[in-house]
Amino acid sequence: MKRNSNAFLKNEYEELVKNDFDWKLRILQSGSAPHSIVDGKEVIMLCSNNYLNLSNHPKLIKAAIDAANKYGAGSGSVRAIAGTMKIHMDVEKKLAKFKGTESSLIYQTGFAANAGLIPQLVGKGDVIISDELNHGSIIDGVRLTKADRAVYKHKDMGELEKVLSDADKKYNRILVITDGVFSMDGDIAPMDKIVEISKEFGAMTYVDDAHGEGVIGPDGRGIGAHYGLEGEIDVEMGTFSKAFGVVGGLIAGSQDLVNFAYNKSRTWLLSGSHPPAVAGAQFAAIDVLEKEPEHVNNLWKNTKYFKNELKNMGFDTGESETPITPVMVGESSIAKELSDTLFKQGVFALPIVFPMVARDKARIRTMMNAGLNKDDLNKALRIFENLGKKLKII
Ligand SMILES: *Cc1c(COP(=O)(O)O)cnc(C)c1O
Repeated sequence: MKRNSNAFLKNEYEELVKNDFDWKLRILQSGSAPHSIVDGKEVIMLCSNNYLNLSNHPKLIKAAIDAANKYGAGSGSVRAIAGTMKIHMDVEKKLAKFKGTESSLIYQTGFAANAGLIPQLVGKGDVIISDELNHGSIIDGVRLTKADRAVYKHKDMGELEKVLSDADKKYNRILVITDGVFSMDGDIAPMDKIVEISKEFGAMTYVDDAHGEGVIGPDGRGIGAHYGLEGEIDVEMGTFSKAFGVVGGLIAGSQDLVNFAYNKSRTWLLSGSHPPAVAGAQFAAIDVLEKEPEHVNNLWKNTKYFKNELKNMGFDTGESETPITPVMVGESSIAKELSDTLFKQGVFALPIVFPMVARDKARIRTMMNAGLNKDDLNKALRIFENLGKKLKII
């Protein structure tokens, strides 16, 4: 029988729909803001990564418009050929200063940074040692390497030391890689210990700080600054797509790292550079963080209030130490019901269910926003409390 070339497209999709595993896209009719219009309804936004509401900051918008007016809509090329504009270099210089590192490099996205850099740092005869809860883009970066892999239990430093000590005899290069802020639970990697133990074995350290950049550390300078480890982590990777309110992946580290990365990362070499508007807004985002501490302060003030109130109501908020606060629910079906009802009542927060987390660890993941006020938070909290009681979560 002749094969059916593309029947799997429909079959596999329908299988996902049947199991309720398909993504049902919600459409924003406004900008991504503390109050957004989503599917025709005004909601309190509790699932955007736009933590500081910088995407709506007048300075970022003006910088994007000015850069587009001056330099056009696109950059014309990959960075390595004719697509490096002075505005790209200006952002990298400003970023390195902000991060307290010698140098920095900007990728199209955080995903492109992980996928392009990890496979160049290690290869055959080397090993990558990874926290078991690392982000999918790290996992895909790791899959592109010929290096062996080892995993340690989430934040278990005893086990990391043991895995390192085993690896020490067998391998050439060793790369220890971890999320900075873990995106599902909102806890922070013990980077001080990871760096200390890794140094003992001459292992490289790589932290994906996508949810920490602009959020943790003084002025939101990220995980290196949070632990006072500026310049001591081999690769601090992050993104402009979350708290910075724009788009773009970043790495910060030594000049040697940056020289190596831009000559070797295929995602950097073979993909067009950011439009001038993006670079302009990135520059303005760093500038705002340097000059206006109120955004990071508000984010943390809101986070502490919201988290404490949820706990006082009896909700289990897991191990979170950051503006990512999971509301643990247990069963996937209850998490989905809670999220749907929250939405109907004007609170937008998504369920995280199996297979993203273990079957009995379904939750609503809330992400705080600096632009929400006390009334907004109280409104959202009352709705959580009512529904939590109704669904017997509290
Ligand atoms: C969002 C995220 C990324 C991807 O960043 P983008 O710049 O949006 O591609 C990478 N790692 C982690 C941990 C993330 O949460």
